[in-house]
Parts: sequence; structure tokens; C-alpha cells
Amino acid sequence: MERYDVLVIGAGPGGYVAAIRAAQLGLKTACVERWIGKEGKPALGGTCLNVGCIPSKALLESSEQYHRARHDLAAHGIEVGEVGIDPAAMVARKDKIVSQFTGGIAGLFKKNGVTWLQGSARLAGDGKVEVAGGDGASQTVAAEHIIIATGSRPTPLSVAPVDGERIVDSAGALDFTEIPARLGIIGAGVIGLELGSVWARLGSDVTLLEAVPDFLPAADRAIAAQAQKAFAGQGLNIRLGAKVTAAKAGADAVTVDFEDKDGAQQAQFDRLIVAVGRQPVTDGLGLEAAGVACDERGFIQVDQRFCTAARGVYAIGDVVRGPMLAHRASEDGIAVAEGIAGQHCHVDYGTIPWIIYTWPEIAWVGRTEQALKAEGVPYTVGVFPFQANGRARAMEAAQGQVKLLAHAETDRVLGVHIMGPHASELIAEAVVAMEFCASAEDIARIVHAHPTLSEALHEAALAAHRRAIHV
Ligand code: FAD
Ligand code: NAD
Repeated sequence: MERYDVLVIGAGPGGYVAAIRAAQLGLKTACVERWIGKEGKPALGGTCLNVGCIPSKALLESSEQYHRARHDLAAHGIEVGEVGIDPAAMVARKDKIVSQFTGGIAGLFKKNGVTWLQGSARLAGDGKVEVAGGDGASQTVAAEHIIIATGSRPTPLSVAPVDGERIVDSAGALDFTEIPARLGIIGAGVIGLELGSVWARLGSDVTLLEAVPDFLPAADRAIAAQAQKAFAGQGLNIRLGAKVTAAKAGADAVTVDFEDKDGAQQAQFDRLIVAVGRQPVTDGLGLEAAGVACDERGFIQVDQRFCTAARGVYAIGDVVRGPMLAHRASEDGIAVAEGIAGQHCHVDYGTIPWIIYTWPEIAWVGRTEQALKAEGVPYTVGVFPFQANGRARAMEAAQGQVKLLAHAETDRVLGVHIMGPHASELIAEAVVAMEFCASAEDIARIVHAHPTLSEALHEAALAAHRRAIHV
């Protein structure tokens, strides 16, 4: 029986990063992965690379370029004439990027000496793991440390069962090769907004049916309100407080019954995406027999060092509590590998950035104003609109604002919330600042290049002290 120091189950951004880091630290490492990619071949990279972050961002970029060519270039005096879109070519470009990246992970495994065991893993107790290969053959391997990084899958909705044709989950929505004239989406969360934006930009009439009455409840209220207005302006029909009671796929359309404040309603769509959250993947892992405990929502229970209830078994990423984000999973992966190697094992969950890749983008780190109020923390607010930022105006992309929250007494930055152009990149400065316990004054005294979008954060920090220059 082959013996490893570390065996990782799952090669998503949590698992593959953990495996590479463990190997870098001199540990004999293997990673079990069962994913079969679109080409019918085994693939590394998990949800993120195959059907998540990377393919969705590829489509967001393509659809944004198309939208810009059709609607925004005229403002620059650029005449482009008739602009067309070939959705099948757009999806093929996305697939190419995915296969380049998943192949890249296989290369990184080779370079770092990580063994890829293809197949499905199950804990067999006593440091052993059974790997059932796709070809029916199975093998048992032993490892001193086992890291579970089996990720998550879309949460099913019993009233709207996915059929892969008319009713799809987020993975299916990345593969439309025709633009649906009427697109319905259940759930106006991150996936609903990102994928809704993709198809709305290409011409779909998009309706989002959201169960809760608040829009983006995790975001700062001021930013959520601005975003809701911006998306409505883009034609996204967001119906809040909508309870879907049935969705039936017919030959030509999907009929959706729902109830909202106006009573019982019915709508028809050409396609329906179900995006109501994700749930941990733990079935078939043999957790109970191995002594690994889960919480009431099915997430594997871990302590701060990612240790489960079973000795030598750890869990990271989407399968454990915390934000279901790729960068979070990867940082868990690094920390758990370093912990196993006897190093410090820590991830700062207080400074994990959240990004929604719509246009304008939405990004935040730290606490919202409503959270500070609820906790009774004294704070000051600095707001700066992109309308007053020269670079944003030059880009014809001046929607949104930067909002900075600092402690009223210590001036320590407690949260930064951005809606605006390239918010996904701008938030990095706020993350660094918060990680280094910066004050608003620290950011205000740092020289920011002109003209850049980053000046908006600088001005928001100045505004927190009532001394912004350009508003
Ligand atoms: P996963 O990526 O889910 O990987 C788990 C792996 O384990 C899978 O490959 C699976 O096949 C394998 N596995 C499971 N069970 C077994 C078993 N028994 N044996 C062998 N292998 C097994 N996050 C962001 O941060 N930014 C984004 O922009 C973003 N966009 C997203 C867009 C979409 C459409 C979706 C669906 C998700 C997006 N996410 C994004 C979330 C992100 O993809 C996840 O948070 C991330 O992939 C979690 O990583 P993970 O390693 O924990 O799990
Ligand atoms: P989500 O939690 O962001 O949104 C799901 C939405 O569906 C919520 O607003 C919820 O209230 C609503 N909902 C739940 N049940 C419903 C019902 N029966 N009817 C109508 N609405 C209902 O989840 P998601 O959009 O499915 O994405 C899953 C996770 O994947 C995210 O939480 C995030 O962690 C990750 N993700 C991240 C990114 C990113 O970082 N940019 C992008 C996509 C996905």
C-alpha cells in the first residue's frame, strides 16, 4: 500500500493549493480528484476553474466587451456600425480558457511532485483512504494527514428541479449557445447577478426572483441601494420577496408560479437558472464511520487549525464554515499545510474581500455600517463618488462610490465598501490597509497617483475626517 505524508481529497482552489504547499514543505503528497471535464477527460481545479470563478469571469468579460461596443463607444466618438455576437464562439473561448487553466494545475502538480490519484475518495479509517477510479479499479492508500477539500455544489430547489435543458443550475448557465429571449433566475445573490448580467448584456430579458425582501443583505445598505438602482437601469428586473411555488418545463417555455406582495403570479421564461446558494459535498466520504462530525447545515466541523473530530483528518474551503470563496479556500489550504508541517496556521477571516463582478463592480472588506451600528461601535464615515474622480470620468464609468468606515476614537479602518469601475482591483488596497491595522489618516497621507481610480479611496479616507478636497 502506497503511503503519503499528506493526502488531499479534492483539487479545487482549496485542495490543489494545500497539496502544492504541502509538497513545497517537503511532505510526500497526493491529491485525489474525480472531476470529469467537458471534454470527457479527468480535470483538476474543482468548481472554481471548471464551472465557477474562471468561466463566469470569461463570459462576463466577453459580454461586457460586446455591450461596450454596442452602447458605450459612441460617447468616445467611435463609430463601429453593426455589432454582432456569436454566443457559441463566446462559450468556446470560455472553454479554452478553462482547459488551459485546468491543464496548468496538472503541470503545477508535476513540477511540485504532487501525485494525482484520479477517482473518488472515501475515508476507510485508521489513516487509510479508498480511491475508486472511474475505470472501476480501486486502491487503498495510507496517509498520516488527510485533508478534506471536497467543496460544494448548487443547492437544489424542490419546486424547480434542474433538468439540464430549460431549468439549469449555475454550471448549465455557462453553456447556453443561444441567447434566451426571456431568462428567469431564482435567487438574486452573487451568481444570479453575475450570470444575469452576462445574458442581459447579450439581449436577454432577465427577471430575478429573490425570496428575501432585502437586496444583497450582506452588503452595506448604501452600496446595495445604489447597486439595485444601477441594475434596474440596466434592465435587470429584480423581484424581491418572491416565493417560487412551482416551475414546470414545457416544450417551448418554463412556467414559474410565485407569490409576492401583489399575490400569486405566473411568469414564462425560455430558460430558468436556479441559483439559491451552495451546499457542502460530503456524501460518500464515510465521515461518520471515520469519526468526522458535521454541523446542522452539513458543513464539516473544524477548529481554528482546520482539525476535524477525527485525529489526523482536516477540512478546508467550501466544505467548512465561512465564506464560500476561492481565495478563502486557497488561504485555508496554505494554512493547513503549514500547520501540518509544524508552522504557524492562521487565516484572518476579518479581512477577506467580497467581490461581485457586475458592472459597476461591487467589492467590500470588513464590517458594514449596519453591523457597526448593531454592535454599538462608534464610527465615522467617509464617502467619495466616482463622479468626482477624473479617471472614472475619462473612462465614461463614473457610477458608484467608495465608502470608508473608521473607528470614531482610534481612527482604525473597520470596513471599505466600493461600487464602481474595477472595484475588484481597488479593494486590494483596503485589504492591505486593514491587515496592517491602518487608520483612515494613514490612507489619507499616502500619495496616490493621479489620475487613478485609487484616488477615490484616498478621498474617502480624507472625507472620514471632513477634509476631502474634490467634493
Ligand atoms: P471546489 O472548488 O468545489 O472543489 C472541490 C473538489 O473536490 C471538486 O473538484 C470535486 O470534484 C472534488 N471532490 C468532491 N468529493 C470528492 C471525492 N469524494 N473524491 C475526490 N474528489 C472529490 N469564488 C470566488 O472567490 N470568486 C469568484 O469569482 C467566484 N465565482 C464563482 C462563480 C460560480 C458560477 C460558482 C458556482 C462559484 C464561484 N465562486 C467564486 C466560488 C468558488 O468556486 C468556490 O468557493 C471554490 O471553488 C471552493 O473551493 P474548494 O476547493 O473548497 O471546493
Ligand atoms: P448566494 O447566497 O449569493 O445567493 C442566493 C440567493 O438566493 C440569496 O439571495 C437567497 O436569499 C436566495 N434564495 C434562497 N432560496 C430561495 C428561493 N427558494 N427562492 C428565491 N430566492 C432564494 O448564493 P449563489 O448566488 O447561489 O452563490 C453561491 C456562492 O458561491 C456564493 O455565496 C459565493 O460564496 C460563491 N460565489 C462567489 C462569487 C464571487 O465571489 N464573485 C461568484 C459566484 C458565486
